[in-house]
Amino acid sequence: MKITSAEFITSAVEKTQYPPDTLPEVAFAGRSNVGKSSLINTLVNRKNLVKTSARPGRTQTLNFFLINKRCRFVDLPGYGFAEVPLRVRAGWKGMVEGYLGSRRSLRLVVLILDIRRVPGPDDASLMRWLEAAGKPFLAVLTKADKLSRNGQQAQCRVIQDQLMLAQNEMIPFSAHTHQGRLELLHCIMGALGEK
Ligand code: GDP
Repeated sequence: MKITSAEFITSAVEKTQYPPDTLPEVAFAGRSNVGKSSLINTLVNRKNLVKTSARPGRTQTLNFFLINKRCRFVDLPGYGFAEVPLRVRAGWKGMVEGYLGSRRSLRLVVLILDIRRVPGPDDASLMRWLEAAGKPFLAVLTKADKLSRNGQQAQCRVIQDQLMLAQNEMIPFSAHTHQGRLELLHCIMGALGEK
């Protein structure tokens, strides 16, 4: 898939604010500061379509982007930021699970993890929730440029074991070197039923 256009549509916290459930969607999820904004910007070849925030955990909305005028990327609010109060975390869960659980046009969830870190309980619980709900997802290990190729492979195995994942469900990725960009686009395109 060649991305020829990408534009912000709207932010939403409630279902009534979502755009109509008519175009196929790919959602992006991950801990605050994992590199989610950078990953989406890299995919669409734009520096600042998604604003990278200086204060982790600040964005608590779902952000919808129209891609190539015929599908959408949905940037889910980052989770797992330690200083976020319990009330806000519960709000996150309701907002994200509300979207993921009800969206008919959702085709794929890209779950973003830091390749250098062991996944945390929030990552594992989202993944288990997706499995239980039968939602297709793909793990992408970002910041791969911080490790050698051998180091990347070793970390892939650690993360895979930790999350009990099949290897073909993980893609090492870097917003700096663009490693994994084409592979990820290919998977997204497949999920959207495009060539
Ligand atoms: P978000 O909170 O998940 O949207 O994360 P951001 O995209 O704002 O990135 C958080 C921090 O990680 C920023 O300082 C980025 O420059 C850095 N970062 C993001 N992606 C990469 C990457 O692929 N490689 C490296 N080395 N740093 C990255």
